[in-house]
Amino acid sequence: MITIQIKAGREKTALHRHPWLFSGAIAPYDKEPKPGETVRVLDHDGRFLGWAAWSGSSQIRLRFWSFDERDQINAAFFRQRLERAIRARSRFDAVGNAARLIHGESDGLPGLVVDRYGDVLVVQVLSAGPEAWRDVLFDELAALTGAVAIFERSDADVRELEGMSPRVGLVRGKLPATVDIEENGLRYRVDIHGGQKTGFYLDQRANRLRLGQLAAGAEVLNCFCYTGGFSLAALKGGAKSVVSIDSSAEALAAAKLNQSLNGLDSAAAEWVEADVFQYLRKLRDMGRSYDLIILDPPKFAPTAQHVERAARAYKDINLWALKLLRPGGLLATFTCSGGMSADLFQKILAGSAWDAKADAQIIERFTADADHPVSLNFPEGDYLKGLLLRKIA
Ligand code: SAH
Repeated sequence: MITIQIKAGREKTALHRHPWLFSGAIAPYDKEPKPGETVRVLDHDGRFLGWAAWSGSSQIRLRFWSFDERDQINAAFFRQRLERAIRARSRFDAVGNAARLIHGESDGLPGLVVDRYGDVLVVQVLSAGPEAWRDVLFDELAALTGAVAIFERSDADVRELEGMSPRVGLVRGKLPATVDIEENGLRYRVDIHGGQKTGFYLDQRANRLRLGQLAAGAEVLNCFCYTGGFSLAALKGGAKSVVSIDSSAEALAAAKLNQSLNGLDSAAAEWVEADVFQYLRKLRDMGRSYDLIILDPPKFAPTAQHVERAARAYKDINLWALKLLRPGGLLATFTCSGGMSADLFQKILAGSAWDAKADAQIIERFTADADHPVSLNFPEGDYLKGLLLRKIA
């Protein structure tokens, strides 16, 4: 096995069990490990730090599998990690049949994401470590879950940074004709081939339930609606009307299908294919106003370098949403940008309120649901942040 040493003074994060080490921390070495190869990591004085997967083309050069010298990184190791994470998800059986089973770094499996949609698993292999172990991981996942099919959606941009090309397709079993899930008493059809990410945004499950409760009797505007997650929750919760906006025609078609799968009142729902930035202004020109507005945009700031441009985008949509909100109305506003801190997000919203000449207060805070845990050693995992604002005046 290849040994990699860390430069003097650069071992601190590993001692705190942070799962990443960047290229700048690595001391010169003789032999280049293969992509995803397990290496033994030592500090400058030769003390053991951990077992890690090598990513030769990424700035994140090492991702730790384990900090325990007694561990052996093999099929039994992965079985144990997978089993531990999957067992922790059993509570989600009470709210439906879909859950994130494996949440990468926070589950001790850097670069691996697994979502369960009924009997089907959708997997994202996002770094060289799990890529090297892919067959072992797929076999163990099949054995542990009894899934009828495992479908791979490794088409996220981050794979490029690892020097890996996209991989999409069936890797185990046989796919059913359709993949339907149930969540909080609603049915959603999931397009695992063509949908965004793995097909569905499970992280918003608890927030969909909460906003459904707050929607009773309300005129609702749901921006960035994707396949209708929040829209259907609001209709089920007794919203008077729901206007939903997305720029993707496919997403809207799926949303309408989901509405009919649930037999929800079609007169109360309006689906609009538009750019939210432009359409919010248009709604204002038309003199519209709402009791509950939901803003769940895509990642405007994938990394810290994009934060400034992202800040302007968040400020803009929140400003227009606050203008469209009636006094006493609620704005549920989210950011899923890893590079955007909760603190900065709140400051941006204060700027939006100032420019909208609105007075607003925070009454609740949202995070990703509990099947998307955040390891205390990996604060970067805390990507989804949301606030519920009430417009006072
Ligand atoms: N709230 C959804 C997930 C939203 S994902 C749920 O609970 O399932 C973000 C969505 O924003 C995607 O569907 C994407 O198509 C859409 N989108 C991205 N940019 C947009 C824009 N400028 N205007 C309208 N929709 C946009």
